[in-house]
Amino acid sequence: MRILIVNPPHPSIGSRIPKEQLPPLGLLSIGGPLIDAGHDVALIDGELGNVPLDVLADRIVAFAPEILMLGHSGSTSAHPIVAELTQNLRPRLPDVVIVYGGVFPTYHYREILAAEPQIDVCVRGEAEATVTRLVDAIENGKDLGFVDGIAFRQRGGIVETSPAAMIEDLDAYRVGWELIDHKNYSYYGGMCAVVMQFSRGCPHLCNYCGQRGFWARWRHRDPVKFAKEIAYLHRTHGVMLFNLADENPTVNRAAWIKLCEALIAEDLNGIKIIGSTRADDIVRDADILHLYRKAGFERFLLGIENTDEATLRKIKKGGATKTDREAIRVMRENGILSLATWVGDFEDVRDRDFWRSFRQLISYDPDQITALYVTPHRWTGYFRQAVDRKVIQLDQRRWDYKHQVLATRNMAPWRVILWVKLIEITVQLRPKALRRTFFHPDRRLRHGMRWYARMGRRVWLHEWRTFFFRDRRVKDGPTLKAFWDEPQDHDEIPLRIVRRRERREPVPVPSPVSTREKE
Ligand code: SF4
Repeated sequence: MRILIVNPPHPSIGSRIPKEQLPPLGLLSIGGPLIDAGHDVALIDGELGNVPLDVLADRIVAFAPEILMLGHSGSTSAHPIVAELTQNLRPRLPDVVIVYGGVFPTYHYREILAAEPQIDVCVRGEAEATVTRLVDAIENGKDLGFVDGIAFRQRGGIVETSPAAMIEDLDAYRVGWELIDHKNYSYYGGMCAVVMQFSRGCPHLCNYCGQRGFWARWRHRDPVKFAKEIAYLHRTHGVMLFNLADENPTVNRAAWIKLCEALIAEDLNGIKIIGSTRADDIVRDADILHLYRKAGFERFLLGIENTDEATLRKIKKGGATKTDREAIRVMRENGILSLATWVGDFEDVRDRDFWRSFRQLISYDPDQITALYVTPHRWTGYFRQAVDRKVIQLDQRRWDYKHQVLATRNMAPWRVILWVKLIEITVQLRPKALRRTFFHPDRRLRHGMRWYARMGRRVWLHEWRTFFFRDRRVKDGPTLKAFWDEPQDHDEIPLRIVRRRERREPVPVPSPVSTREKE
């Protein structure tokens, strides 16, 4: 079949500020299996150059696909854009089957199918196997009710099929790299770049995070095959920067050592690998961090999330402030940069909470810091804890972790952003941090720190600008529960789906809750 995969343009800071774009790994991951199944597949990346929606729509119409697939890695904040784009397309492509996947559709498919009649099918969960079965069913006129892992409209109701089986062997599906021109993608200051995934899932229980629910069990790819793919991308396409999308790739120490050794054996001089992991894994691996470095790992984002032990317990982070500090120290000893992420408003913060966070962040001494705002999704346990907090940001496009979305009872938003931005800039501009940024003896690390400082400056100014001139916040918004509806912790999903599996009958369409209406 003639299939077009589209990455919609996204207004978030992460997409727009770097002026560099990373390839859409999730979409390429479904493209590979679809090509291998014999379909005619193309990809349009609307993120490249921030393509205006009308221009993007014209390009899609010109391609005349039989199936249009959409999704975005920032799925919650990108949803209004997907909705607008597909509304525009439906009258122009009346026969195309519109398929929509990602984390947000996985958990909000009922509302989406109710409010957006132009969307035909939502794919739930990881999609490589599901989309190939779905396309086969569409092509051969089979009953979609037998394609696991989807939801669709039928006879005025919504059918949700059984959950798709988790992919046990991540090497069984390949990424469709041929769908992109690598020359269009760069990151980290002009380095030809890709996003890759060594592992999926996470065994930890942090209650604000949806990774465990979406990916189910933690799994990893074959380390040797993964290293060979990196080598192929480097040698054939000149890729120099590899950004690991894994939330927690280092879970299995033995597998991680194998990966480092396989990368070292490939002798890929000059490549850089950046990613995220947990501070306790770094401390566990203090004795092998030299291997990380030799393999090309240059920076890890550490989700320290909060500096208060009580809050860390409440969000079930399972970490400790002592470990966070130690991780940063041992990384520095081994020439690996630390990017600490800190979430300012898990609780109803006061001035003294920000002051404590500031002092602790200084004592952690990270190379880089990024401050985020709590962004509770209804598929996380944290949502349940926060259901009664008031929403101040009704524009779903702003639910991107870089905008305050929940009210804090003791502080106005201007005071929250003042604290957050002051902390960020003060931690980043400490004499020690500046000395490292400009005079670090290692040229590679100096490059990474300077690039981040440039990005940080632009993001910092952008956030102030949008706070004063673009963002609209409400004073007395709905509660979180009223805004997103009932909590839908991922642990509850299998129960509901088992019940539907027995019937496989459409269920009534819920009353439309359009995200547009909420704005
Ligand atoms: S926040 Fe990180 S460590 Fe915690 S569950 Fe999510 S991926 Fe795992």
